[in-house]
Amino acid sequence: MLQSKLLTKISKTFPEGEESKNAKWLIRGGFIAKSSSGVYSILPLGLRVLRNITEIVREEMNALGSEELAMPALVEKKYWEKTGRWGVDVIYKTGNEENKKDEAHDFEFGLGWTHEEVMTAIANNFIQSYRDLPKSAYQFQTKFRKEVRAQGGLLRGREFLMKDLYSFHLDEKDLESFYLKIWKAYNNVYKRVGLKTIVAEAGGGDFTKQYTHEFQVLNTAGEDLVYYCSKCKFAQNKEVFKPENHKDCKEEILNAKAIEVGNIFRLGTRYSEAFNLKVKLESGEESRVVMGSYGIGITRIIGTLVEEYSDERGIIWPKSVAPFKAHFINLRKNKDKEFKKFFALYEKLNKNSNEILFDDRADKSAGEKFAESDILGIPLRIVCGEKTGIKLEIKERSSSKFKLVSYKEIEKYLAV
Ligand code: ATP
Ligand code: MG
Repeated sequence: MLQSKLLTKISKTFPEGEESKNAKWLIRGGFIAKSSSGVYSILPLGLRVLRNITEIVREEMNALGSEELAMPALVEKKYWEKTGRWGVDVIYKTGNEENKKDEAHDFEFGLGWTHEEVMTAIANNFIQSYRDLPKSAYQFQTKFRKEVRAQGGLLRGREFLMKDLYSFHLDEKDLESFYLKIWKAYNNVYKRVGLKTIVAEAGGGDFTKQYTHEFQVLNTAGEDLVYYCSKCKFAQNKEVFKPENHKDCKEEILNAKAIEVGNIFRLGTRYSEAFNLKVKLESGEESRVVMGSYGIGITRIIGTLVEEYSDERGIIWPKSVAPFKAHFINLRKNKDKEFKKFFALYEKLNKNSNEILFDDRADKSAGEKFAESDILGIPLRIVCGEKTGIKLEIKERSSSKFKLVSYKEIEKYLAV
């Protein structure tokens, strides 16, 4: 991709009115744009990061044997009424003053803030026998929430992207075995995107009465407070914290602010009861389906990564999610032989992947190009200039060391 052709430009200053580190850098770098408080557009650069994250999540969910689907964002009132959750979140009404009495066109919807209801209704069409279990399905979907305090940039939006997965089981035992598997899959996801998480017990909110598990990244930008032990696996969210539960370990309990990047819930039969979802057993008796639901905050992960990986000069994306693999920067004034070689290498490496950004802009100084490259946070910077001679300069964003290497070596670096 040629940098001169990008839709976005890097801003010289931070946006006004944004306090969080992630919103400041992401807006300045042209990854996102604020639409209104808690509502952001994901711009092309941001979408590259988002797609890398969703692909990792997709791979891990598919590896569990789960299937991807897409449910509607408009969820009619009748669905929420079955579980007593109508009005918990954002309501959307069709119709207006003129056709107020026109019942045929008057619908009340909840803007999907979670999809247990819709998913259970779908499952009802396909799950009838114990032989149909277990099943699970997931989606990536924009969720809408009546957040009173939308804050922290992508950490708490009124509209955000979530991966939500729902599972259906014959009994608690089968749910438990799936629960442990998805727990592992979540660990893989966070590791692959570059986040270190601890798993804290928490309450179930509007979803379940049982303990749930939250995947938390210890970071001062977080809104949660987690009590945890550095020696054993004990960790609880402040809202359910009971020090007496940490009795088999002598180590002191610590606490820290944390960002919840995902959670897993055992739902039991609350939703299958509401939607009358049951299966026929071998004996001929009927049994309620046991369910679980599992969320990952995709856009919140982007915000968390910037909170975790940035310095005074900009973002430092982990390789696995970076918008581009490498940033090629041309400093040569003339389209001479060396420039042509450099451009040919870019074309060769970029051809199939489109994962190289080439700074071809003639109106920027070397200093400006470097400063902007640091803001974008692409893992590798490769420079061709009068000073680099017949070689190229390579530098990792995360390090201050640079060296001159041959074209062949660059190809090797980028092959991995
Ligand atoms: P929180 O306690 O932060 O409000 P939640 O318990 O409401 O989160 P869920 O409804 O279970 O979260 O959503 C699943 C995941 O979606 C969360 O673990 C989090 O990563 C993400 N998430 C929830 N609310 C938001 C939001 N307003 N903005 C961005 N991501 C969110
Ligand atoms: Mg919430």
